[in-house]
Amino acid sequence: MAANTRRIEIGDVVIGGGNPVAVQSMANKKTDDIKATVEQIRNLEEAGCELVRVAVPGREAVEALPKIKKEISIPLIADIHFHWEYAVGAIEAGVDKIRINPGNIGSENLVAKIIEKAKDFGTAIRIGVNSGSLHPKYSKEEDAPAALVKSCLEYVRFCEAMDFHNVVLSVKSSSVVDSIKAYRMLAEQTDYPLHLGITESGSLMSGTVKSAVGLGVLLADGVGDTIRVSLSADPVHEVQVAYQILQSLGLRFYGPEIISCPTCGRCDIDMIPVVEEIEKRLMSVKTPLKVAIMGCIVNGPGEAKGADIGIAGGKSEGILFKGGKAIRKVPAKDMVGELMGEIEKLIEDVKEKESQ
Ligand code: SF4
Repeated sequence: MAANTRRIEIGDVVIGGGNPVAVQSMANKKTDDIKATVEQIRNLEEAGCELVRVAVPGREAVEALPKIKKEISIPLIADIHFHWEYAVGAIEAGVDKIRINPGNIGSENLVAKIIEKAKDFGTAIRIGVNSGSLHPKYSKEEDAPAALVKSCLEYVRFCEAMDFHNVVLSVKSSSVVDSIKAYRMLAEQTDYPLHLGITESGSLMSGTVKSAVGLGVLLADGVGDTIRVSLSADPVHEVQVAYQILQSLGLRFYGPEIISCPTCGRCDIDMIPVVEEIEKRLMSVKTPLKVAIMGCIVNGPGEAKGADIGIAGGKSEGILFKGGKAIRKVPAKDMVGELMGEIEKLIEDVKEKESQ
């Protein structure tokens, strides 16, 4: 469960207040290309994305927002930099939340216009401070995490002075260490819900590692109400990685968890392609299941016991396990098909139980 923060409604998704940590992503198509953006958001929804953000860099993007919103099922968040009038336009267009960094909107008067509009429409605002755009008061501060937090709290005070509390906060940095320090500091000083992310974290591989470390440490401490894994990759991967992080910490269960060994000299079958193929085929499955794929019988039966379904390699064959018990041997060449057949039966059983 998320930390005991204030409860904020973003469309029909509630974050904070002990609700499950929500998974976000961001579309990377041109927002005014409505067809492409909607198609991408639907793919994200299919992958389990619960909140989606789109960039609003121009008037055309503002105008596209209501059309996009009509075509999707998850809350829509507009990401605005520099232009207060786009933020006001996005709120009027009916988005569920906007993300701004007040530091790059301009004068306090302009930020106030956005807040007034958000109050009128009941729209949440994420105050997203990044290390590259601090409050001018703290731009020379040498302690980078402290500068992020002080900037963010300065803007929070501004919102509160206007009696606006529908706020989510983020203090992102591309440094994992600075992000952890900043979020920990922020969590001690506020009870507004926190959106966690490591900004510009990199490719599928490096971004996954940085996000898993940064977000994982914070989430394990009970800090964070919603997360976005930023990757220079198809955003669907952001959602998949986010769930893997939450699943590893026992915070969310979404789709199958694959437990597989690294293989070693005891393995007599070509195991790694089996793991890759099973992972690929389970990509769109949402039923939470534990699937163990082990190279030999040393750890295979032990791991399989804790899994719903599993396979352990033998000499040119695999031993299938279900509910902790060996059920049959299958030739190595049939392992993927046989394991998938059993997984599909299990999924059907789960669905049948759920429908009763
Ligand atoms: S399960 Fe067997 S093959 Fe896999 S790493 Fe352990 S000993 Fe090696």
